[in-house]
Amino acid sequence: MSGCVYQKETPLIIGLTGGIASGKSTAAETLHSWGAYVIDADKLGHRAYLKDTAAFHAIVDTFGADTVGEDGEIDRRILGGKVFGQPEKLEALTQIVWPSIRTMAAQEIKLAQAQAPARVVVLEAAVLLEAGWQDLVDILWVTVIEKNIAIKRATSRDGVDAAAVEARINSQLSNAERTAKADVVIDNSGSLNELQKQLQTHWLKLEHKQI
Ligand code: ADP
Repeated sequence: MSGCVYQKETPLIIGLTGGIASGKSTAAETLHSWGAYVIDADKLGHRAYLKDTAAFHAIVDTFGADTVGEDGEIDRRILGGKVFGQPEKLEALTQIVWPSIRTMAAQEIKLAQAQAPARVVVLEAAVLLEAGWQDLVDILWVTVIEKNIAIKRATSRDGVDAAAVEARINSQLSNAERTAKADVVIDNSGSLNELQKQLQTHWLKLEHKQI
């Protein structure tokens, strides 16, 4: 898509994805400060589990009533224990939760466009490609980062140990698998300033309708 003139009448929806600690949230914050409407799929994920939603009932049916904690909500720790290290169960869970997130994201995109038709919308989603949400967005921005830097940033952000981060990175799509699908690749292995510069370049291209 790069280099062609953007001719769509409706506002643009950027899909923003990337590996753990690659800088998705940092990039989204910057785009928000420049006027974008940001939808955080992770936050929608938390809403998907809430009491009496369709996903809530499907989780209870699939994983048992003991997944509900004393407060009546799904206990994410208990649920996590039930799917940990069991790919089929994890798959069953994502097949419940991802469609709910997708529905909420599509609704929020519509709402954002109705409120401010010219405003760029950003859908920030770690699992955008895995969940197959590319059709919700017009262009795909992918943040990439060298593995050792991802481990360093994730451990200092989350207080988790390096081995756990590395295991998560190895279980996710690789940088190459993501960039193969990207319209824009943002390399965030450098400084915050370097990140901002790349974002600015691509943001200005959008404003000039050249993407
Ligand atoms: P993601 O949302 O992809 O998991 P974040 O945006 O949360 O990643 O970034 C991971 C951590 O690294 C955060 O603590 C963030 O403040 C920090 N960070 C992001 N980009 C840079 C950078 N270029 N230089 C230094 N620290 C960074």
